[in-house]
Amino acid sequence: MSSSTDFVLAIEDLTVSFDGFKAIDSLNLYVDKNELRVIIGPNGAGKTTLLDMICGRTRETAGSIKFKNEEMTVLPEYARVRKGIGRKFQTPSIYENLSVFQNLEVSYPKGRSVFGALVFKCDDEVKDKVNSVAQEIGLAETLNTEAGLLSHGQKQWLEIGMLLMQEPELLMLDEPIAGMSVRERELTAELLKRISNNRSVIVIEHDMEFVKKIAHKVTVMHQGKILAEGSMDKVQSDPTVIEVYLGH
Ligand code: ADP
Ligand code: MG
Repeated sequence: MSSSTDFVLAIEDLTVSFDGFKAIDSLNLYVDKNELRVIIGPNGAGKTTLLDMICGRTRETAGSIKFKNEEMTVLPEYARVRKGIGRKFQTPSIYENLSVFQNLEVSYPKGRSVFGALVFKCDDEVKDKVNSVAQEIGLAETLNTEAGLLSHGQKQWLEIGMLLMQEPELLMLDEPIAGMSVRERELTAELLKRISNNRSVIVIEHDMEFVKKIAHKVTVMHQGKILAEGSMDKVQSDPTVIEVYLGH
């Protein structure tokens, strides 16, 4: 019998094998409500594959993924999005020829009535949501700018904003600061901290200065397994972590 927990995300014995190679190998991971977890580890450790499995893009060979105590492995990707799992991919998928406002607007979830017809929210409700999300991602002054004209960092924030429009309870980001300027990295750290005030966030990142700034807890992955987990200080001084990852 499976028990109920307070974790937003509870992953147990998760395994995926690609032609006999276990990219994720009997992995257990538990994430709290409003936690900002950072996953680090060498290339090929299985970090991206893990996010792919949580969002339903890659199917497990075995194991369980519970989101708010509900089994996700039986659900397709779009159903997991509706349940509140948001995922940002490495290349932003914004509409370059639409304005920032329009990009956010089109991301507003359209509800369905009990009869299956699409139900649109009133204009003011959408506008209020767009404005509050634009504020949160630091793009309130650029609402009318064409998205294609934004800086690299601003494009990344816009995509985070598009995910926030759907009010996910778990937001996952894969190397969000790659290619960003120093200032953009600082602002992204602040943004992620703000975001995790009322939702759980999982971030994959390599930049240890950045990880130090944002992480509540750090999980170190290696060969599809968890090598170490805990505070930044604990993980950084772990000899096996230094050997397989930080030492290089
Ligand atoms: P990381 O994000 O930690 O760098 P990945 O999750 O991208 O690592 O990859 C983990 C391992 O799984 C790598 O050895 C990669 O080649 C392999 N892998 C990932 N996806 C597939 C796939 N669809 N088919 C075969 N091998 C894969
Ligand atoms: Mg990766």
